Amino acid sequence: MAKINNNFLKLKAGYLFPEIARRVNAFAEANSDANIIRLGIGDVTEPLPEACRTAMIKAVEEMGDRSTFKGYGPEQGYAWLREKIALHDFQSRGCEVDASEIFISDGSKCDTGNILDIFGNDNAIAVTDPVYPVYVDTNVMAGHTGAANDKGEFEGLVYLPITAENNFTAEIPDRKIDLIYLCFPNNPTGATASKEHLKAWVDYAKSHNSIIFFDAAYEAFITDSEIPHSIYEIEGARDCAIEFRSFSKNVGFTGTRCALTVVPKTLKAKAADGSDVELWKLWNRRQSTKFNGVSYIVQRGAEAIYSEEGLAQTQALVKFYMENAKIIREQLTAAGLQVYGGVNAPYVWVKTPNNLSSWDFFDKLLQTVNVVGTPGSGFGAAGEGYFRISAFNSRENVEEAMKRITEKFKM
Ligand SMILES: *Cc1c(COP(=O)(O)O)cnc(C)c1O
Repeated sequence: MAKINNNFLKLKAGYLFPEIARRVNAFAEANSDANIIRLGIGDVTEPLPEACRTAMIKAVEEMGDRSTFKGYGPEQGYAWLREKIALHDFQSRGCEVDASEIFISDGSKCDTGNILDIFGNDNAIAVTDPVYPVYVDTNVMAGHTGAANDKGEFEGLVYLPITAENNFTAEIPDRKIDLIYLCFPNNPTGATASKEHLKAWVDYAKSHNSIIFFDAAYEAFITDSEIPHSIYEIEGARDCAIEFRSFSKNVGFTGTRCALTVVPKTLKAKAADGSDVELWKLWNRRQSTKFNGVSYIVQRGAEAIYSEEGLAQTQALVKFYMENAKIIREQLTAAGLQVYGGVNAPYVWVKTPNNLSSWDFFDKLLQTVNVVGTPGSGFGAAGEGYFRISAFNSRENVEEAMKRITEKFKM
C-alpha cells in the first residue's frame, strides 16, 4: 500500500473554526429566535471596487477575441502589474524594490507555506505566539517539527510570546534562529511594529544570517504615518527579508485571489557545500515549475487598483472597515473592557474580563448577547485570556453587536 506523509498526523485537526461553528450551531438550534452576529471571521464583507470590476469585465471581453486572447502568462506575473506595484507600494516609500523582484501569486496563504520549498529541513524556526496558524501548520507538514504538547505547541519550533506585557512585540531571541515569521500589522492582535522594532529584527537577522518572512497583508490599514508599511523601509532588509503582500483584505480579493511576494536579488542563504545561493533564483525556479501564474483577468483587476479611481475606491474600503474598528474599540472601552489593536489593523484584541478563559468569554458573549468572536487561545497558548473581534462586517452588524455588548456589560 502507498504510504502517507506522516507529518500530517501531527497536525491539530483544525480545532479553532470547527469548534466555533459547533458551539454556534448548538446555541442556534436551542435558541431559534436568537439573531446571531458573527464578528469572528477574518473574511471581508464589502463588494469589489468598481475600478477592479470594470477592468476585469474588459479583460473577459479581450479573452473572447482571437486578436487579444491570452494563453499562459509569465509565471512571475505580467510586467505591467509588477511595475505598478514596485512604483506605488515600494519605490514611492523609498524602498529599493525592483519589479523583477516581485512575484504575483494567488495568495499569501499559499506563498507563506510554499516558501518552505526553497529552504532546508534543519533550520531553527521561530513564530510569535499567538500566530497566524498557516506558518505553524506548513512547518509541521514539511516535517520541521516533532509532536504537539497539550498546549498545542510543536516540539522544535521556537515560540515568541506577544502579550500586553511586551506591547505585543516579540523580544529579540538570545539564541540563533534561521527563519523568523513576523506579521505586522498583526493578525490576530492588531499590533504594529515601530521602525525601531523592525530595525532590531533586521540587525538581528543580519548578524545571525537569518531570513525574516515578513507578512504585510494588513499594511493598507496603517493610519499612523510613523509606522513602516514594508520591511524594506528598514536599511539592510534587502539582505535578510522576504515580504508577503495580498490584495485580499485591502481590496476585498479574498475570493478573487491575487497576492505578491518580494524576494530581493541580494538575498542569499547557504548550500550544503558551504556556498551562498541567491534565493531569488530558487524561488523563480520553484514558481516556474509548480505554478502557472494568476489569471490574466484577475491581474487586470489588480492593476486597476493603481488607477486614480482604483486608489480612491480602495482607500474608501479600508476607511470603512477602520471606522468599524473605531466603533468596536470605543464601545468595548465604554463597556469597561481593555482593548488593544484596531487603530492600524482591522482587528481588535480584547482582554477577557475577570480572568475568564478565552473560551468562557466566547460562550458568555454568545449566550448573553448572541455575538460571536474568536477565542485568542485558538491562535496559540499566549493568546489565552484574549479574544479577537474583527472589523470586517457591515456597519449595521457592528453597531448592533456593540449596542448589545455595552447594554449588557454596563448593567
Ligand atoms: C488574510 C491573511 C493573509 C492573506 O491570505 P491570502 O491567501 O492572500 O488571501 C495573509 N496573512 C495573514 C496573516 C492573513 O490574515
